[in-house]
Amino acid sequence: MTRYVYRFGGGVDDGGKGDKNLLGGKGANLDGMAAIGLPVPPGFTLTTELCTAYYADGEKYPDSLNAEFAAGIAHIEGVTGKIFGDPADPLLVSVRSGARVSMPGMMDTVLNLGLNDQTVAGLATVSGDARFAWDSYRRFIQMYSDVVLELDHGSFEEALEIAKEDKGYSLDTELTAEDWQALVKEYKSLVEKQWGKPFPQDVHDQLWGAVGAVFGSWESDRAKVYRRLNSIPGEWGTAVNVQAMVFGNMGDTSATGVAFTRDPATGENAYYGEYLINAQGEDVVAGIRTPQYLTKTARERAGAKPLSMEEAMPETYGELANVFSILETHYRDMQDIEFTVQQNKLWMLQTRSGKRTAKAALKIAVDMATEGLITEEEAVARVDPAALDQLLHPTLDPKAPRDVLTKGLPASPGAASGQIVFDADSAERLNELGEAVILVRIETSPEDIHGMHAAKGILTARGGMTSHAAVVARGMGRPCVSGAGSLSIDNVAKTLRIGDRVLKEGDILTIDGATGEVMAGSVPTVQPELAGDFGVLMVWADKVRRLKVRANAETPLDCRTARDFGAEGVGLCRTEHMFFDAARITAVRQMILADSEAGRREALAKLLPEQRSDFAEIFAVMAGLPVTIRLLDPPLHEFLPHGDGEFAEVAEAAGVSIDLLKRRASELHEFNPMLGHRGCRLGVTYPEIYEMQARAIFEAAILVAEQSGAAPIPEVMIPLVATKRELELMKAIVDKEAQAVFAEKGRTIEYLVGTMIELPRAALKAGEIAEVGEFFSFGTNDLTQTTIGISRDDAGRFLTQYVDKGIFARDPFVSIDVEGVGELIQIAAERGRKSRPGIKLGICGEHGGDPASIAFCEATGLDYVSASPYRVPIARLAAAQAALAHRK
Ligand code: PEP
Ligand code: MG
Repeated sequence: MTRYVYRFGGGVDDGGKGDKNLLGGKGANLDGMAAIGLPVPPGFTLTTELCTAYYADGEKYPDSLNAEFAAGIAHIEGVTGKIFGDPADPLLVSVRSGARVSMPGMMDTVLNLGLNDQTVAGLATVSGDARFAWDSYRRFIQMYSDVVLELDHGSFEEALEIAKEDKGYSLDTELTAEDWQALVKEYKSLVEKQWGKPFPQDVHDQLWGAVGAVFGSWESDRAKVYRRLNSIPGEWGTAVNVQAMVFGNMGDTSATGVAFTRDPATGENAYYGEYLINAQGEDVVAGIRTPQYLTKTARERAGAKPLSMEEAMPETYGELANVFSILETHYRDMQDIEFTVQQNKLWMLQTRSGKRTAKAALKIAVDMATEGLITEEEAVARVDPAALDQLLHPTLDPKAPRDVLTKGLPASPGAASGQIVFDADSAERLNELGEAVILVRIETSPEDIHGMHAAKGILTARGGMTSHAAVVARGMGRPCVSGAGSLSIDNVAKTLRIGDRVLKEGDILTIDGATGEVMAGSVPTVQPELAGDFGVLMVWADKVRRLKVRANAETPLDCRTARDFGAEGVGLCRTEHMFFDAARITAVRQMILADSEAGRREALAKLLPEQRSDFAEIFAVMAGLPVTIRLLDPPLHEFLPHGDGEFAEVAEAAGVSIDLLKRRASELHEFNPMLGHRGCRLGVTYPEIYEMQARAIFEAAILVAEQSGAAPIPEVMIPLVATKRELELMKAIVDKEAQAVFAEKGRTIEYLVGTMIELPRAALKAGEIAEVGEFFSFGTNDLTQTTIGISRDDAGRFLTQYVDKGIFARDPFVSIDVEGVGELIQIAAERGRKSRPGIKLGICGEHGGDPASIAFCEATGLDYVSASPYRVPIARLAAAQAALAHRK
C-alpha cells in the first residue's frame, strides 16, 4: 500500500530520505534537518503523491489516509505531550504547502491551527498569558479566513484598525487580552456573515479544511501562471506539512526570523537576515513591522539603531550561526532559513537553497568551489544560464546625472526605466504593446506575479529584503527596490507622492536595484564588466563544454560584442539586414522592381561594393574564425517602397515611370509570403542576386586576408532548400563566382558551401542533400513553423493557451519541440552524416540560445549552436551543463 504520510522530528524517521519529489522541498528539508539532529518541531508531511492521487480520483482522498493521518497527529502529540483539541493544554499546529520547488502562487501558511473557543482558554492558562492566547486565536481566524475560506481579508484589517482607533492605540502591541477577545468575537461574526457558516470549532475540521485548501491552491490561477512562467509540470503536485507550533511571540525572550547563510544580493560570505522580537513568522515576511538586522555588521552598515540579534540575543545567535554552518556543509549550498526562538529555545522551521541574484549565484558558486565545498564542475552546474542575462545587460551610467527622488532597499539588482503603472494588469497590457513599465505597489502579493513578470522593474513602498516583492523579483531577475518608505501611493488617483514631488501613471521612472535609488525620468546605461567571477566561471565552463558556440550577428558591432562574450565564429549572418540600410534601399528596390535581368544587374552593381565592405568589416572582426553568411532569404516584397515619395525616388534612380513600378510591385504581391518566393527560390529565379553576394564575400575575404594576414573562413549558406537539385544549382553559382574571383586576384581562400535545414523535406532528404552541401545549419525557426504548420509571426495569439492546456510543455518557438522538430533534426543529422561523414552540423534558429534546446543539441551530437550576441555566454554555460549532464 502506498504510504502517504511521513513523520519527522522526535527521533522518528519514516524513511522519506529527504526526497523532494515525494515530500516537496519544505517537507524534504524538515525531514533532512531532523535527521541530522537539528531542533525541528515534530510533524508530518502529506506527500505530493497524495495530491496527485487526490486529483486523479476526482478530488477525493484515498481510504487508507485516515489511519495514517491519525498516526501523524498521534506522533506530534507523543513528542510534545499535548493533545490536539485538548481544552486544557491544546496542541497547535501549522499547516504549510510545499511543492518540489517553492511556488509563490500557492496557499502558503496557516498558523495556530487547533484554537477554538475552548482551547484558547487552555492556552491562556498553560502559557500564563491570556493576551498571547487571544492574540494567537485572532491571528488564526484571520489567516484561516483569508487563505482557507478565501474571505475578504481587508474587512478583518479594517476591524482591527477600528478597534485600535476606538481605544486610541497606534500599535498592535497596545491591545490587551480583553481587546483581542472582543476582536475575536467581531472576527467570528465577520466569518459568519461572509461565509454563511460559523467559524469551524472542530479542530479536525479545521485541519482537513487547511489541507484541502493547500491541495486546492495547486490548481489556482496564480499557481498555474507561475508554473507556466517557470516550466513546472502540473503533475508534480504539492505536499502539505503539518507541524507542532512554536511561538516567537511569547514575550521578549522569543523571536522569529529569516536568514540566508550568504548575502543573496551580492553573494558575500556573510550571514544575512532579519528578525523580530516577540513576533510570529508572518510578521517578518509580510512587511507589517520593519524587521531588525541579524548581525551587528549589517546593522552598523545600514546605520540602524534597533539592536541586531547578535547583540540582543548573543547566545541564541551563536547557536543559530552554528546551525548555519552545519546546514551549508550538509546541503553544500547557500541556505534560506526560517527560525523561531521560543523563550530562548531555538527552533528551525525551514531551510532551502536560497534564491539569489545572478551576481550572487556566480559569486557563491565560484567561492564555494574555491573554498573546496563543491567542485568546479558543480559550480558550473549551479548557475542558471538564463540568470546570466541579469549580468550581461547594461547598468546605469555612473557618470550620468540622476534626479534621485528617494531611496529604498536594494532588493534585486539591475537598472530599469519605464512608465509608472500601479497594477499588474496594466503592466501586462502595456508590456504586450511593447512599452517598458515599472510596476509600483504598496507591497506585492502572489496575485501580482503576471505584472511583475511583464514589468521591467518593481518598486514597493513596504516590505524588507525578504518581502514577497524582493524574493520574487530576485527569482525572476527583475530589478526591484522595496520598502521605499517615503513613497505615498494613491491607487485610486494613480499618483505617487515623494515629499512634494508628485508623479502620475505613465510618467517615466528609473530604479536601480543595486543601490535602491529611485529616480525621475530615464538614465543612460553602460555595458557590464565581464571579468571577475563571471570570467572564472566561463573558463571552468569552457573546460567541460563540447559544443562550440557561435553568434547570430550581421554588423561589426554585433560581431565585436559576440567575440567579447566568447563567440567562436558567426553561425548566421543574415544578409538582408544589410539591404535595409538607408543608403542602399533605393538600389535594392530598383533591383527588385526591374523587369529584366539587365535592369537587375545594373542595380546589383551598385550594391556589390557595399556588400563587400560589409563582409570585409565582419571578417576583420572575426579574423581567423568561421563566418557563416546566408544568402538573401526574405520575400522581395518586404523591401518594396511604401508611399508615393519612396516610389518616386526609385523611379528616378531607375529611370522608369512610377506607374510601371507600381504595377511591378503589385505583381510581387503574395498571399502567403512565408511559403512563397523566398529563400533559395530567389536564387533559382534571379541567380544574379546570389552571384553578386558570392562575389562580394570572396572579394572581401581576399581583401581581409591580404590586409590582416589572418584569412577568414567563409561558409556560404543557402536558405530554405528543399531538394538536392536546388542546392546543386546554388552551389554551382557560388563555386563559379569563387573561381572567378580567385583567378582575378591570383589567390585562393578556403570556403564551404552548405545549406540550412529548415523544411521537413530537407530533413528527410538530408542524405541526398549532404552529397552536395558541405555543412548543415538547422534553421529551427522555419523548421518549427513548417513542421508544426504554425506561423511564427501569428503564433503568439494562441500559443499561451496551447501551453496552458498542456499541448506543448513550452512555446516551441522558444524551446525546441524535441519530439517533433527534434526527431526531424535527428533524422537529418543521421542521414547527413551517413552520406558525408563528419559533416559540420549546427543550429542557428532562436533555439540556439535556449538552455533546454542546447541540451538537445548536445544529445544529438551537433557541432555548434549559434545564438544572439548577448546569449553567447548563456549558451556557453548551458553547453557546459549539457555536456556534464550528458556524461552522467
Ligand atoms: C530559421 O529559420 O531558423 C533561421 C535562422 O532563419 P530566419 O529566422 O532568418 O528565417
Ligand atoms: Mg529561416
